[in-house]
Amino acid sequence: MDGRTTLSAGAYPAVVLKPKEEGRLQGGHLWAFSNEIATAPSASNPGMLADLFHAQKGFLGRGFYHPHSLIAFRVLTDQKDQLIDESFLVKRFETAMAQRTAFYSQGHAYRWVFGESDRLPGLIVDRYHDILCVQSIAAGMELLKPLIIKALVQVSGAQGIVWRTDSGLRELEGLKIGKPEVVHGQVAGRIEIHIENGKFFVDPREGQKTGFYFDQRDNRQALAAYSEGKRVLDAFCYSGGFGITAGLHGAREIVFADSSQPALEMAEANVALNGLAEKSTFVQGDAVELLEHENPGGPFDVISVDPPAYARSKKHLPAALKAYEKLNIAAMRAVKRGGIVASSSCSHHVSRDLFIEMLRRSARKAARQVRLLELRSQAKDHPVLLSMPETEYLKCAILQIL
Ligand code: SAH
Repeated sequence: MDGRTTLSAGAYPAVVLKPKEEGRLQGGHLWAFSNEIATAPSASNPGMLADLFHAQKGFLGRGFYHPHSLIAFRVLTDQKDQLIDESFLVKRFETAMAQRTAFYSQGHAYRWVFGESDRLPGLIVDRYHDILCVQSIAAGMELLKPLIIKALVQVSGAQGIVWRTDSGLRELEGLKIGKPEVVHGQVAGRIEIHIENGKFFVDPREGQKTGFYFDQRDNRQALAAYSEGKRVLDAFCYSGGFGITAGLHGAREIVFADSSQPALEMAEANVALNGLAEKSTFVQGDAVELLEHENPGGPFDVISVDPPAYARSKKHLPAALKAYEKLNIAAMRAVKRGGIVASSSCSHHVSRDLFIEMLRRSARKAARQVRLLELRSQAKDHPVLLSMPETEYLKCAILQIL
């Protein structure tokens, strides 16, 4: 017996929702906002485990309560007898892993846990074969840290775990921003991962975010299908995912561009790892300027533009849309007539509709007819929970420029 059966529903402190605020949660959303809470325990610890109730309708879910965060409650389970312990985490991790390996069967390289979409709010885990990289952005997950580490090791046999605490979102939960920490075993500086047909070095400590952008893996494959025999520009290349995938699908020539020198060095190492050095060149600098003015060696057949999130919050949206427009006008003009632009945006606040509107304006200002061939989203290891629009952020439009 694991103790679950001995726990009664009243074992966790009660948080009560205001009347008429239960609809979204009943529809499968996992958050209650601070203005929707009627009563909560007076001595509340940020991230403490609690039960969420509706005054008339009863139990809604068990999860994390945070007295000072806009996201006041994050639901972990709607089972009122479920104890939140190591075996709970083990089950969640096993389920998430089975869902990843069903789609990506080669080795273990994927986003293993994508927060709310895996009913583990505020927890991100990337798996690089034997090494894991965790990012926690919820105070409650930080409280569960020792249990999470034990459960991850139990399920995966991981030989090393990096715990990253450098996401700006942590500040919203009153969590400190800190340096990456090796919390289990040992982690080498660079790990080599094998995904689809490519090989990549990943640095889970020093790399951007958690080290590698798995979210674009399916989109890289999609763009590669247009790249055989073509001259390709991978703008905002980071570690070279789009360009290398195109190169492995027979691109004739690839130019990698990024403003960050460490990113370009990683891209260069990855290009060599995949045997693509002879057809690759590297340019450091602002990708928009490159597209507008420098355009090394004439027009491209295929261009990927994958900038960082321009709209970090709603108030940045108007400026962000202008910046996306400037970038996309430049890309549409720099590509050959009949060529392909894969335009990405990872800003959650730019909805699909706003994104398409922005592309429409860009096409008009670039004086090009543009066809939308594919409108894509996050890779299958970053699934979007339909009941939670907040889990969708990536758009990738594959456009043909006439
Ligand atoms: N396409 C990459 C991910 C890109 S992340 C992949 O598939 O893995 C965004 C990248 O844009 C980062 O590497 C960042 O260094 C770079 N960047 C940010 N501003 C830039 C600019 N103005 N010009 C060129 N690169 C820029």
